[in-house]
Amino acid sequence: MVKYLSIIGLLGTLLSACSTAEPIESAKSSVPVVYSKEYKISLLGLEKLHPFDIAKYDKIYAQLKKEGWVNEKNSHTPETLTRKQLRLIHTEAYIQSWKKSRNLARYLEAPQMATIPGSLLQNSVVKRFQLASGGTLHAARLALKSGVAVNLGGGYHHAKPDSGEGFCLIADVPIAIRQLQQEKKIRRALIIDTDAHQGNGTIVCLANDPSTYSFSMHESGIYPEPKEKGDWDIGLAAGVTDASFLGTLKKSLPTMFARARPDIVFHVAGCDTLAGDPLANIAMTHEGIAKRDAMIAAYCKKKKIPYVMTMAGGYSKNAWKAQYGGILEVMKVYGEK
Ligand SMILES: [Zn+2]
Repeated sequence: MVKYLSIIGLLGTLLSACSTAEPIESAKSSVPVVYSKEYKISLLGLEKLHPFDIAKYDKIYAQLKKEGWVNEKNSHTPETLTRKQLRLIHTEAYIQSWKKSRNLARYLEAPQMATIPGSLLQNSVVKRFQLASGGTLHAARLALKSGVAVNLGGGYHHAKPDSGEGFCLIADVPIAIRQLQQEKKIRRALIIDTDAHQGNGTIVCLANDPSTYSFSMHESGIYPEPKEKGDWDIGLAAGVTDASFLGTLKKSLPTMFARARPDIVFHVAGCDTLAGDPLANIAMTHEGIAKRDAMIAAYCKKKKIPYVMTMAGGYSKNAWKAQYGGILEVMKVYGEK
């Protein structure tokens, strides 16, 4: 009897041990989110002198986690881009040029960087861009499986094959497209760029390529000047508000999809269109940006075309909140749990 009781006791202990090891509960959304805390660029405090909010990605991730939209189940850590993948778009001479601090300082428009030893910048800057750019490829792979994915970085749309500019070092979206084409996972891609600045780098990287289609809505009178000629560019006047921006976007969607016939869509979802941004003059609200992102995601979902969201610019204090709001809308489009 004592023997049986001890067996029952042992079973009870085992069962209670099992019940305390609770399975991970699903987050409120199943939309995959690609992120690493290594995305953050840190330069002994010098990064604070730069308009780019380097903590933006961390703030968004922390908020998504706090509100239960992401957890271990839908969080994904990217792999860094290999040199071979970088070479799908970038020249060897350009990649070599990253060794020199003064070059990086120029590409990233951060003169203070020129005083930092090149070896230090390899770890604190180059590797971080390489990882966050790998995040766009990773998100694209996830989107091809599940229909949608968000990279909490990327959208470096000013990087060109042989030069960097406008805080952009690596052309993450063109590289992801080329890699997936090479693997025969996609044939055609559409880039929808709704950052306030034209994605001049993306256009140059994918010039004369009929398998890709670039659509850009951007402010006319600001950087980059001159603009490149993309497949479809819509220049906006300073002060454009939600209604006008969203009306133009809504009208354009059917035509751009018909022309692009994409197997995948990359959205460069910059939030420097938020009113008050120090580097642009578009006057969208948080609600307007959320509607913008929801509109594009919903259209992709309706057409059953994988949707990849990348972050790009946003330089006001609240840009991260606008980006967060847009991501939530995308998650809601693909079904809140
Ligand atoms: Zn921008």
